[in-house]
Amino acid sequence: MTVLERRGGYIVLTWGCQMNEDDSAQMTSLMEADGYELAAVEDADVILLNTCSVRAKPEHKVYSKLGELRELKLVYPEKIIGVCGCMAQKEAVNILRRAPHVDLIVGTGQIDKVPALVERVRQERTAIVSTELPDRKMRSDKTTPSRALQVGSPKLKSFVSIMYGCDKFCTFCIVPLTRGKERSRPADEIVLEVERLASRGTKEVTLLGQTVNSYGKFLDTPCTFAALLERLNAIEGLERIRFTSPYPKDFTDDVIAAIAGLPKVCPQVHMPVQVGDDDLLARMHRGYTLEQYRLVVSKLRASVPDIALTTDIMLGFPGETDAQFENTMSFMREIRFDAAYMFAYSPREGTKAALMEDQIPHPIKIERLEQLIALQTATTLQINSEQCGNTYPVFVEGRSAKDNARWTGLTPQGKTMNFSAGRDLLGQIVNVRAVGAHVWGFGGEIQSIRTDRGLVLQMAG
Ligand code: SF4
Repeated sequence: MTVLERRGGYIVLTWGCQMNEDDSAQMTSLMEADGYELAAVEDADVILLNTCSVRAKPEHKVYSKLGELRELKLVYPEKIIGVCGCMAQKEAVNILRRAPHVDLIVGTGQIDKVPALVERVRQERTAIVSTELPDRKMRSDKTTPSRALQVGSPKLKSFVSIMYGCDKFCTFCIVPLTRGKERSRPADEIVLEVERLASRGTKEVTLLGQTVNSYGKFLDTPCTFAALLERLNAIEGLERIRFTSPYPKDFTDDVIAAIAGLPKVCPQVHMPVQVGDDDLLARMHRGYTLEQYRLVVSKLRASVPDIALTTDIMLGFPGETDAQFENTMSFMREIRFDAAYMFAYSPREGTKAALMEDQIPHPIKIERLEQLIALQTATTLQINSEQCGNTYPVFVEGRSAKDNARWTGLTPQGKTMNFSAGRDLLGQIVNVRAVGAHVWGFGGEIQSIRTDRGLVLQMAG
């Protein structure tokens, strides 16, 4: 048995999307494999801030956190403070200028090197910046960060990044610059990771990628996204597979068939549309029209009738007129998304949209956002009310944050279900009838559970 040298305490603080959360989980595993132990911020020898750059808010939070950490560093200069992820990739020079007490900057393509870089800072006692990404011009450079096995107690649900970067270059988005060009992990490597997770108790995986259904381009051993889903569906012990976010233009019929035909692939698709206006879509360089988007939606709904569809909507893109905003409202009414992530556009330096002259004043953005949220809230409540009375298999994830006496879990459609039961159901899939509709999901009544012998016990209905 190898006895690890105890190197000290560490903590990873995360702001941002699921991709950032997955990067943080990777850094956690790597640091622990290197002999570090999780500690509180005040006690940690290494403090890593991992953050997203898609919107301005997480960046402000990181600068504010770095301000707080300056005091700690003055008292304990030997502590190592690192900034990682998209913000580090894009803001390295600014971070070092505004927060000279930062010792380490690690970009998105270098996450797997964090322990080695921390060691270098220790040895050299100088600030280190590591932000290399694969060369966009060289098709042969397809490097993806090597993945660490998750450590610590097994997780019921895990994120698994299957591809990195993006080649779409939407005019508002910084991701192609912060995460580099699109490259996919070999399918065998992903299958092995998910097999290992399932053998440690993971029952649900969410496959991550900026445009997750574009998976597989330029792999040495070809594999489509649909073929990958099929291989993952065969993994013993795994119960559910989700993925996010698919790109509308790359939503091929074989993926729709996989969602319809593979029992572990959940009937849930989060497909960002951004706006309901073709001219704005073109200005955003999204690469599809509303008609193409509608076609994917109608095929999905025809093949998977119980599917839940959710989306991202961006308000206040430069030049958005009242009429164009109305078009987005109409499109939302027409599609009737189960839920939507809605936000006001904020210019990101380095993108084309940030240079567009017709920026929308903040109060108008807020007014439009409020209107859209009101519309979507009513739609979500209406859809959830229509679904009351249905019974769903719910994967029980823990106690409800709203009421500790109740259990909480997700339906296959990804909707939260809270319910009471007089026994420990953690990690089980139980049948629950939806009886109360909420914006966040349902209140439910348990109907039946599986026993160890595969039987179904009927509970009070
Ligand atoms: S598809 Fe567009 S919005 Fe999505 S990550 Fe790529 S550039 Fe950004």
